[in-house]
Amino acid sequence: MLASVEFDLPAEDRVFRDAVREFLATHLPEVLREASRATPTVFAEPEISRRWQGILHERGWLAYNWPDRFGGTGWSPMQRYIFEKECALADAPGLPVLGLKLLAPVLCEYGTARQQQFYLPKILSGEHYWCQGFSESGAGSDLASLRTSAIQDGDGYVLNGAKLWTTHAHFADHIFCLARTGNSGKPQLGISFFLVDMRQPGVRVRPIRTLAGDHEVNEVFLDDVRVPAADLVGAEGQGWSIAKFLLENERGGSCHAPRLLADIARLRSDAAREPAGDGTAVLDDPLFAAQLSRLELQAQALEITELRNLEQAGLGQRPGPQSSIVKLVASDLRRDVDALAVSVFGYVGAQLELQRPLYGEGGPAALHSKSAQVATPRYLNSQAWAIFGGSNEIQRSIIAKTVLQI
Ligand SMILES: Cc1cc2nc3c(=O)[nH]c(=O)nc-3n(C[C@H](O)[C@H](O)[C@H](O)COP(=O)(O)OP(=O)(O)OC[C@H]3O[C@@H](n4cnc5c(N)ncnc54)[C@H](O)[C@@H]3O)c2cc1C
Repeated sequence: MLASVEFDLPAEDRVFRDAVREFLATHLPEVLREASRATPTVFAEPEISRRWQGILHERGWLAYNWPDRFGGTGWSPMQRYIFEKECALADAPGLPVLGLKLLAPVLCEYGTARQQQFYLPKILSGEHYWCQGFSESGAGSDLASLRTSAIQDGDGYVLNGAKLWTTHAHFADHIFCLARTGNSGKPQLGISFFLVDMRQPGVRVRPIRTLAGDHEVNEVFLDDVRVPAADLVGAEGQGWSIAKFLLENERGGSCHAPRLLADIARLRSDAAREPAGDGTAVLDDPLFAAQLSRLELQAQALEITELRNLEQAGLGQRPGPQSSIVKLVASDLRRDVDALAVSVFGYVGAQLELQRPLYGEGGPAALHSKSAQVATPRYLNSQAWAIFGGSNEIQRSIIAKTVLQI
């Protein structure tokens, strides 16, 4: 049976891996593992992710991709990878990545000392919950055409505009956003990066229901919203460069292979138990087994690519445009793995969803596995991977232009 690639770890990494395993065994509560297995959306709900964040913060293992001088763990690239892999194998929930993995590296790189001292500890403690205000209607792939304006007024700016598809804005108290401070020259040059407190008049959040029925994304309206000049990150007009730095982390800052491989392993064991209707199990179908193995091999290849990228980051280099390769491959794999799960028991899962109002939480749904219950909503949600952080077509263009240079 294929599994995750078994690396021949040096002794010190084996010691580290065992320490992580031991910590997860003793500190990751079953209720959080269960919640993670039952999460159909891309992001875990804050009541789940923040609890896990608190546990890791207490252990000092939260800022593992931050530079050491800002409270990073000082782990090697391999140790970071081992940590993410062990978390995936243990069904740890996702973390609130928008603050921890997207904004924090921006503040470490471009922020003022005041911004670093004020915001970074609050991101770590979970006191601030961040969302990302880049996209707008008509400014997704073509982000440079964004229209939200930031007009200088006294010792600050006044923002007006509307952001679209803002993940978890309904939970967030802060939004980092791009706004236009200038209109002359190339559109990219007039964009600036702001930190905005959402707890003020003029900020309004409107929910968007997705195909899967979830409330994960929103519209955010900014009407005469005030931002102190001290909350402009970098210089006026530097927002485009900062956004590109952030997007590299969004696309390639986390490792996707560990979670995919863990899900593939679970799918294999679920398929070995799930009856095919003729006395055999789903896994006994050679076509299904071949499809599963193909996905497993692709996820292993992604794992190697991610490790190579981590090595590069360990040498002090940015994720670079190669992060688009990781994002593209991971998006396709996510959709394909979730589609295969639907082929195992999606129909049952869909039926269980429909029956829930009749039978309640303890009804027929309780008789079937959690995997069956989340298969269909997870598959519907997985379509978003090929869109957020830049669509697959945009990633292909970046790879063609900057990696292959054609
Ligand atoms: C679930 C989800 C969560 C999101 N969360 C956030 C968030 O938190 N914050 C945020 O700022 N944004 C968020 N987004 C927005 C996301 O970044 C945009 O949806 C994405 O960049 C695509 O932009 P668009 O929706 O405007 O589509 P469009 O840009 O209109 O694209 C429509 C289609 O045309 C194709 N296309 C467009 N231009 C080209 C081109 N030049 N070459 C080839 N094909 C092209 C696209 O690939 C796509 O298939 C989220 C999106 C989703 C689905």
